[in-house]
Amino acid sequence: MDVNAEFCARCGTAAAEGDHAHCAVMLASIDPPRFCVECGRRMVVQVTPAGWVANCSRHGERTSTSPSVG
Ligand SMILES: [Zn+2]
Ligand SMILES: [Zn+2]
Repeated sequence: MDVNAEFCARCGTAAAEGDHAHCAVMLASIDPPRFCVECGRRMVVQVTPAGWVANCSRHGERTSTSPSVG
C-alpha cells in the first residue's frame, strides 16, 4: 500500500486503524480503489479495458497505470 496513504482506498477508513490486508490484496488484484487515500473522499471510479480511472474532486485523477499521479 502507498506509504503516504492515510485512508484505505478500498474501505475508506483510516489506514492506521484496523486490518486492511484483505483490502490490499483485493486492490492488487481486481478491485479499483473507491476512496482517495489522501482525504478519504469517495472517488468517481470508471473501469476501463486497460484498468481503471478514479477521480477525487480534490486530488484529481488516478489510473491503474499511474496510481500516484495527482
Ligand atoms: Zn481497508
Ligand atoms: Zn482526495
